[in-house]
Amino acid sequence: LQKFDLIVLGTGAAASGAAFKCRAAGWSVAIIDSRPYGGTCELRGCDPKKVLVGAGTLIDALRRMNGKGLKSEEARIDWGELMRFQRTFADPVPQRGEQGFQKAGIATFHGVARFTKPGSIEVGSHVLEARYVSIATGAKPQPLNIPGEDYLTTSDQFLELDTLPRRILFIGGGYISFEFAHLSDRAGAEVTILHSSERPLEKFDSDLVDRLLHKTRQFGIKVELQSAATRIERKDGSFVVCASTARGQREFESDLVVHGAG
Ligand SMILES: Cc1cc2nc3c(=O)[nH]c(=O)nc-3n(C[C@H](O)[C@H](O)[C@H](O)COP(=O)(O)OP(=O)(O)OC[C@H]3O[C@@H](n4cnc5c(N)ncnc54)[C@H](O)[C@@H]3O)c2cc1C
Repeated sequence: LQKFDLIVLGTGAAASGAAFKCRAAGWSVAIIDSRPYGGTCELRGCDPKKVLVGAGTLIDALRRMNGKGLKSEEARIDWGELMRFQRTFADPVPQRGEQGFQKAGIATFHGVARFTKPGSIEVGSHVLEARYVSIATGAKPQPLNIPGEDYLTTSDQFLELDTLPRRILFIGGGYISFEFAHLSDRAGAEVTILHSSERPLEKFDSDLVDRLLHKTRQFGIKVELQSAATRIERKDGSFVVCASTARGQREFESDLVVHGAG
């Protein structure tokens, strides 16, 4: 049995802040993660996404300047190479992160943390107790509760794709879908976004969303609003997404269906 002032569950942005601040104030601190240290933002979210979106932005700028002083018609995204480059940022994160905690005097543990009673945590063969436990375990994709949802590709899995499918459909019109949709379009895929309500990107400024929506469609990305996925089926090597839309039941065929619905 090991005793601490604070046990932090998770090693992402939320967990790190709490762990380092409490340690600096003189508390004894333990931190636990069931996955490699670093959390979503650095390993499976913001940071890898920014490398990919950066490449998409560059391609777009090059294409727009083609014939205006640049000869850039042949610029294209090499998906496999870009993915390998993206991973060079994430690969060192877990070791560097864990060493950072240890240097600060924070005890590090690996495994799924489980409460056995208030203030008592079991992780692997260790039993830890603390005055406080900070739960910073992040979020996971919400279940859609539709038949065939096992066919969905999560954002984690999207960031591991070594090849880009020809047709990609995103369920849900949030920022993850829009960013990945634009990247996939710039890399050469045919892209569709299904969104259940009238407005995608609901939490963002509506004037900007209108402009983005217009531009998104100009690129050739299909954005189907008021279209709620009701079922995903496998057919001849591809997927068929059935959706209830303002124009009745519709079917969309795709080679990959990505969960971007929160
Ligand atoms: C594709 C994508 C792109 C994004 N882009 C942006 C962006 O550009 N800007 C932005 O601000 N945000 C972005 N986000 C959101 C951002 O990544 C999250 O808001 C942020 O990472 C949440 O941090 P957190 O510390 O709360 O949780 P996380 O970073 O998810 O950390 C939680 C940790 O807890 C661990 N854990 C869970 N359960 C247990 C358990 N029982 N025992 C032990 N460990 C456990 C997990 O393994 C994980 O490492 C993006 C997210 C995604 C998925």
